[in-house]
Formats: sequence, structure tokens, C-alpha cells
Amino acid sequence: MELVLDGELADLGNKILTGERLSREDGIRLYQTKDLLAVGSLADLVRRRKNGNKAYFIVNRHINHTNVCENLCELCAFGLEAGHPKAYTLTLDEIEAKALASAGERISEIHIVGGLNPDLKIDYYVEMLRRVRRALPGVIIQAFTAVEIDYLARVHSIPVEEVLAVLREAGLDSLPGGGAEIFSPRVRELICSKKISGERWLEVHMAAHKLGMRTNATMLYGHVETIEERVDHLVGLREAQDRTGGFLTFIPLAFHPKNTGLEPLAVSGSTGYDDLKALAVARLMLDNFDHIKAFWIMIGPKLAQVSLSFGVDDLDGTVVEEKIAHDAGAATGQFMSKTEIVKMIKAAGRLPVERDTLYNVIEEGF
Ligand code: SF4
Repeated sequence: MELVLDGELADLGNKILTGERLSREDGIRLYQTKDLLAVGSLADLVRRRKNGNKAYFIVNRHINHTNVCENLCELCAFGLEAGHPKAYTLTLDEIEAKALASAGERISEIHIVGGLNPDLKIDYYVEMLRRVRRALPGVIIQAFTAVEIDYLARVHSIPVEEVLAVLREAGLDSLPGGGAEIFSPRVRELICSKKISGERWLEVHMAAHKLGMRTNATMLYGHVETIEERVDHLVGLREAQDRTGGFLTFIPLAFHPKNTGLEPLAVSGSTGYDDLKALAVARLMLDNFDHIKAFWIMIGPKLAQVSLSFGVDDLDGTVVEEKIAHDAGAATGQFMSKTEIVKMIKAAGRLPVERDTLYNVIEEGF
């Protein structure tokens, strides 16, 4: 820390020591400096202040119910046109079977996201939630991005609040953070031209918060965005969190270009240096978020482990089956055992804590 206070980031170090909020310009400087260790050391200080020596993980299962999607975003290797040979939509029985297969596993969260499939109406989602809830009574259901919630509202010409209330009644507990990408309209036009705007994404999340649901937030980085656009994204999330306090955790997602519409543009994706920087800068800018998560599926388990010294306090979960990042070339596995996660956290000098979606402690003292 002394080294940081003698270096080019001394004024930012002093702000962080006294708990002063960092400005947009400060965020840009944190991204511009090549002194990754100084940024990491400051982020580590904030992490310790907020979470002590704890590093969280969750035992969860992902279900991607359909890859049919009307948007066909340029950034996405998962969404396909209906009729494509690899397009699929799980039946309600298949989804129920996947949930029942997890019944003996002592998972605490089911994570469900999919494409915008015009054949699926709200009754499919309601019945899906009811069946998953019946199969796994004590498990938290975190499902459907703001993009999917907005789509259902448009398909049925009803307000987003009504969609959320109906789904909540059927068993939905929390929204995942997907679909935020980068809020900048310039970037969205290039990477997800048909997707809802950043403002709409925030509106859906704030509507969920008003109903008492907690949600997550993400940022997809490493494509065509500038440093300034990344920082504006963080500031937008920070302002929304000031208003509702409903976000649980922030998850920077490293872009994987393979098989996406951006691959021909020679967008190469992030580097390890970028990944650690994005996590550490998020920890420093998002002073009103309790948790920063490294999604090991996106950056690999080894770098995720290292990120525990760069502001991260959460390594996500056991996952089991993941299609979205893997369709875009993620080379990681799709499952990590609880024993492996605990071992990784301990080797980094942290105390592993198994949590549920809402950060209630399930088990500690491993
Ligand atoms: S990113 Fe989401 S909305 Fe866009 S094509 Fe993929 S599944 Fe569809």
C-alpha cells in the first residue's frame, strides 16, 4: 500500500483510504495506468473492508431452455434462428427432468436463461417455474435476463411489472445480470443491434428491485468498447444502485468471439491483464455493490483464483452445464466440484464460504 501511495495513483489511494467515491475521470485513470498491481492492491483493500477474508461460491445448476432467438445479436454464438439444424427448445417435461436430476445434489440455486423464442409465451415460463419449484422446493430460482422479461412484456403487451409479478408468483426469486453488455448506444448498435437499450435494462432491474427481488449486474468487455464506455457503464450501475440498493453482485464477463458475428471483425477478446483490470476497477468504482464475482467459466479457473487478490470475493459456482459461453469458444470445463472450488480458494489464502443466491451462508469452516 505504501508503494501505491508514493506512485502515480497516490491521490486515488488517499480517496479510497478515506472512503471517498471515485469519479468517472478516476475510473478512466485506473483503466489507463499500466500499474496493474497498484490497482489490484487498492481493490484488495476494498475487498477486505467489505468481505474480510471470505471468498464465496455457490453450488448451482444452469439450464438454458432454448437457443432460438429473434435478436440474433452480433455478439452471440448461442442464439439461432428457428429451423436451424442446431436450434432446440426444451419441453417442460425435459426441464422438469433436469431439475429432478439435481434433487439429490444439495444445490441452492437453479439458474435459467434462454433466447427470445416467439413460440414461447408466458404460460410456458409460468409452468416451467412451477415445475422447477415443485421439484426443488428449497432452491432459489434465478432466471430470465432483463432482455427476456422485456420480450415477454412486449409479446403480451403488458407492463414489465406485471410480467415480473406473474413470474414471481410462480416461483421466480431473482434475475441474473445478463444482457447488460455495455450500456453505450454506439456499442450496442455494433454488438447487439436488436437488443433493448441500456436504459431499458436498468428499468427492468429497478422494477424487479421495487417488487423486492434482488438481481445481479454484468458488463461484457473485450470487444469494440472504449475504456470511457466501460467506466460509463459502471457509473450507470452505481447510480441505479444508489436509487434501489437491489443489486447483489457485479460480474464482468470477458467476451469470447468464436462463432459470433464479431469474429470476422478480428475482435480478439480480452487478455488476462484486461480480465484482472476489469475486476479490480469494478471493485473500486462500484462502492455500493457488496460483491464482485469472477465467473470462472469465462476467464478460466486459474485466473479466477488469482483475481481473489484483485478485488474479487466470489467465484460463482459448480455450474454443471453451460452453453452460452461455450458456444462462443470458452475452453473451460462446464463443471467444477465443490472440493475443487474449496481447494482453489484455500490455496489463495481465503476462507471458502458456500452461499445461496442472496449470500446467506450455507456452509463454512472447510
Ligand atoms: S445475446 Fe441473448 S438476445 Fe442476443 S442472440 Fe444471444 S440469446 Fe438472443
